[in-house]
Amino acid sequence: MAERKFIKGCKEWLMFQDFYRFVQSYYQPESREEYWTSCIDSVSELHKTHKEVSLSKHLLLGFLNHIEEVSKGQNEEEWICPACGKFRNPNDRFCRHCGEKIERNGN
Ligand SMILES: [Zn+2]
Repeated sequence: MAERKFIKGCKEWLMFQDFYRFVQSYYQPESREEYWTSCIDSVSELHKTHKEVSLSKHLLLGFLNHIEEVSKGQNEEEWICPACGKFRNPNDRFCRHCGEKIERNGN
């Protein structure tokens, strides 16, 4: 297996640095419009900056697919109250419509 070592400061290294920072900022999808707008802006920016590294567009698209999938899962499982079926904010402790306790995933 031919291993490729990315030398600090080379174009791939720079791309991974930026990609890593980007993923950290947008890892948890939010329902807010600003989240998606700013995320798409960052993707275009990163794509432009690193278009010489063809891997970057696949990483960016892969990440977009991922957060889309996660946010859909949230819509179904977390954003809809299982008791009353209404839209709720998973950050609340109780459903504002029926008072059902909201169990938080993870934290
Ligand atoms: Zn409810």
